[in-house]
Amino acid sequence: MKITVLGAAGGEVTGSTYTVQTNNARVLVECGMFQGGKKSDALNRPPVGQRQRLDAVLVTHGHLDHTGRLPLLSKMGYRGPVFATEATLDMTALILRDSARIQEGDAAHKSRKLLRAGEPPVEPLYTTADAEAIIEQFRPAPYLKPIPVAPGVQACFTEAGHMLGSSSILLIVEEEGRQKRVVFSGDLGPLNSPILPDFAPFKNVDMVFLESTYGGRNHRDYRETVDQFIEIVKDAVAHQGKILIPTFAIGRAQMLTILMSWAFRNKRIKPFPMFLDSPMAIEATKLYARNFSRTPELFDERISKYVRQRPIREDLKLLKATRTAAESMEINNVPGPCMVMAGAGMCNAGRILHHLKANLWKPQTHVAIVGYQAPGSLGRMLVEGQKVVRIFGEKIAVRAQVHTLGGFSAHAGQKDLMTWYDAVAPSNPRLVLIHGEDESRKELAKLIQQKHKANPLLPDRGDIIEL
Ligand SMILES: [Zn+2]
Repeated sequence: MKITVLGAAGGEVTGSTYTVQTNNARVLVECGMFQGGKKSDALNRPPVGQRQRLDAVLVTHGHLDHTGRLPLLSKMGYRGPVFATEATLDMTALILRDSARIQEGDAAHKSRKLLRAGEPPVEPLYTTADAEAIIEQFRPAPYLKPIPVAPGVQACFTEAGHMLGSSSILLIVEEEGRQKRVVFSGDLGPLNSPILPDFAPFKNVDMVFLESTYGGRNHRDYRETVDQFIEIVKDAVAHQGKILIPTFAIGRAQMLTILMSWAFRNKRIKPFPMFLDSPMAIEATKLYARNFSRTPELFDERISKYVRQRPIREDLKLLKATRTAAESMEINNVPGPCMVMAGAGMCNAGRILHHLKANLWKPQTHVAIVGYQAPGSLGRMLVEGQKVVRIFGEKIAVRAQVHTLGGFSAHAGQKDLMTWYDAVAPSNPRLVLIHGEDESRKELAKLIQQKHKANPLLPDRGDIIEL
């Protein structure tokens, strides 16, 4: 069998996509979008693994960098199934509908400019109709029960602890009377996160594709990070500043909302105005609530107990969910202190840009970075301490206090990645490290070499790995 690495390789962390070719079948694992920087647009355009027949598509979790190019498959005529856990399919549908709207909006905007210049218009990468078509092909898969997905190929999903419904996928391939077992870790979450269960690694495998986003370092402890966050909030409240949090709509936004409910409930901070300024984060929060009643086992026992004590919304009477652009713009007129959670998570688009433009120059503003920032993104520039940035073509001085809160990451740090690998290592699998910048990937490779005598492969985009 041959596995082709089509993204999240060679130092990239976005665009996760792999094709698995056996004697009898061809399966796509993930179909992610490349994000961050101009180069990404060009990478997203070419067709994904469509020159030959495709039997099935599997995705580990809903994030755009793992699912964002799925509508291209329906656009190119793929009518087969897309398997993932039920909660992942919920999240993916939400994300793809939003992504299609953005693609259509961007293309219309560019086309207007091109037409004025006497040039032909551009097509969106894909449309809402393409997204709806692939959503029709979604097939829910259970956790921990192998299901047939293609001739001679079964798939089994297990908890990855990264976002609601997230999974690692084991492919069980029968070829020439032999069975081969290949695992794709997907994105792995940190252990002991307060909302999701811990990841549950597979054992006895022949090959492993392991993510290495934070392979080079450990995050600060979650509790310490909470204390650090509370101090930031207190400072902002004392100086009537705004706290801007670029949030990925799904995962971090819900975690922070719950954390603020806890801080108010336990009188760590007096309630003050908060804005969930993202229609998608508002929808995602509803999906979290729906899954919470439907499948409580997808959540950590501690959060179940906390919600049973008292509904979260009772702590959050000053939280406003702003859906419309007009409501979002109104936030500019709200005096501090207040907290604004808005997308995009890497500050490369979305409403957070307006808030950053209006507030970065003020020293009483705090920006809390709670997720991964890809090289080239505005978020990365802020993390790296740039003193001047450009937003909507305008020069903006960065006088705000920018804080990186690694302990709120949805990704496992080095120690937790090692814990995951320790569980699969006894079967001595071939290890492929993907989804990490070069330095992180090499650090993790070195550590695994030392501890398990494994010799990890660090593929580039386009590499083919045989098993
Ligand atoms: Zn992810």
